[in-house]
Amino acid sequence: MTVAGNDPQGTWNAFLDASKDKISKHVFDTWLLPVRAKALSETAITLEVRDQFFRDWLNDHYLDFIRDGLKQATTHDLAIEWLMNPTAVSHDAPGVEFSEQEAEQAPAVPVPSASQLQLNPRYEFDAFVPGRSNEFAFAACKAVADKPALAYNPLFLFGGTGLGKTHLLNAVGHEILKKKPSVRILYTTSEQFVNEVINSVRFNKLDEFHNKYRRSCDVLLMDDIQLIAGKERTQYEFFHIFNTLYDSQRQIVVTSDKLPHEIPEIEERLRSRFQWGLIADIQPPEIETRVAILRKKAENDRIDLSDEVAFFLAKSIPSNVRELEGALIRLAAHALLTRTSITLDYAKAVLNDILDARGQLVSVESIQKAVATYFNVRVADLKSARRQKVLVRPRQVAMYLCRKHAQASFPELGSRFGDKDHTTIMSACRKIEGQLKEDPSLRKQVLDLERQLDVTHTNN
Ligand code: ADP
Ligand code: MG
Repeated sequence: MTVAGNDPQGTWNAFLDASKDKISKHVFDTWLLPVRAKALSETAITLEVRDQFFRDWLNDHYLDFIRDGLKQATTHDLAIEWLMNPTAVSHDAPGVEFSEQEAEQAPAVPVPSASQLQLNPRYEFDAFVPGRSNEFAFAACKAVADKPALAYNPLFLFGGTGLGKTHLLNAVGHEILKKKPSVRILYTTSEQFVNEVINSVRFNKLDEFHNKYRRSCDVLLMDDIQLIAGKERTQYEFFHIFNTLYDSQRQIVVTSDKLPHEIPEIEERLRSRFQWGLIADIQPPEIETRVAILRKKAENDRIDLSDEVAFFLAKSIPSNVRELEGALIRLAAHALLTRTSITLDYAKAVLNDILDARGQLVSVESIQKAVATYFNVRVADLKSARRQKVLVRPRQVAMYLCRKHAQASFPELGSRFGDKDHTTIMSACRKIEGQLKEDPSLRKQVLDLERQLDVTHTNN
């Protein structure tokens, strides 16, 4: 490539190609890739960047690197001239970073309150019971809430289902807001995030999306990050958001039910970034903590709970706080409805019912009803042959759930779904099984329904 060709961007691209492997991918993506070359002469090249901050950063850190590289690409000693254009960042250009100060000067984006933020008001630090199993994660979250971006960044919360990850993540948000209401916090689940990426691409709103996550965000709280597995575009976007936030010292907290190296189909560069900060795990609580959690919950909800009963429940349900709470709530509801107090015998009877019920099969009708209600269609629609998209998915989900949990034969299910052929049921089940592997929103729907039907324990 020579200057004679006078193709500024081509020259810059040649430089990029040649430098890719000489510099960290992150620096490359963040600082070099977004630059556009606008003019080229025998003696100088004009590079366009979005603002002064960007220019100064390049000048301070990478000027020699760029000069040397350009010399190799063109055989000329080129002076570098800068051009600033705030709209210069193309959609695909990865992160442009902003200093703390600049971020504060960014166009006033209203600071959302905790409720707008979708933080769960019940999930504060005060409502969390620390114990040996979770004290490390608890302390790490408190440290992060105390000194966002200075303590541990990123903070990666890892633990099994129902052990308090979401609770702690919310608590971090609440605490930071309490200390400094002007901090711009984004709380999202990776499911929501995937949808946002899809919609931004689809409706050409990437600018808005980037603005939201890169510029207008001081603290990013992302729940269930494991769900971005296999979502390439989402990972790409998240990666660049991560870099921007990280480099400008803004806090990132993610939760996951898998360790970084256990998450399948995730880019290596993202995996390694999760390991940059602190990985804090949450183990199932020991019995004392389980009892303490029950006590606290009972106190909050004004449930009369004796020590005896608390221990009995804590002993019976060892590994999932969500289930533990669920049992307490059911017990309280039963007691209220039947106007009995919660004695140990009563608790045993109810819990036996609960445990028995878990072992029982659900009926085809109850599944059809639950699915119809969930998707806001009629049971008759599930049994009909209408092919509208809004009906096909619910129908297939209902068939799948019936096969899995009511354990009826394919021909029997065929007749229970409006006299369909048994092969229709078979292919619906296969279809849903296949899609479950790659569609988190479907997984959530199925799981929601299984929870409602109280069959999450079977074959899961
Ligand atoms: P995860 O996100 O890990 O699946 P959640 O944060 O949703 O779990 O927790 C499930 C339920 O258990 C929530 O209602 C939460 O408040 C409660 N919980 C979990 N651990 C604790 C704890 N140590 N103290 C108080 N409540 C807890
Ligand atoms: Mg959770």
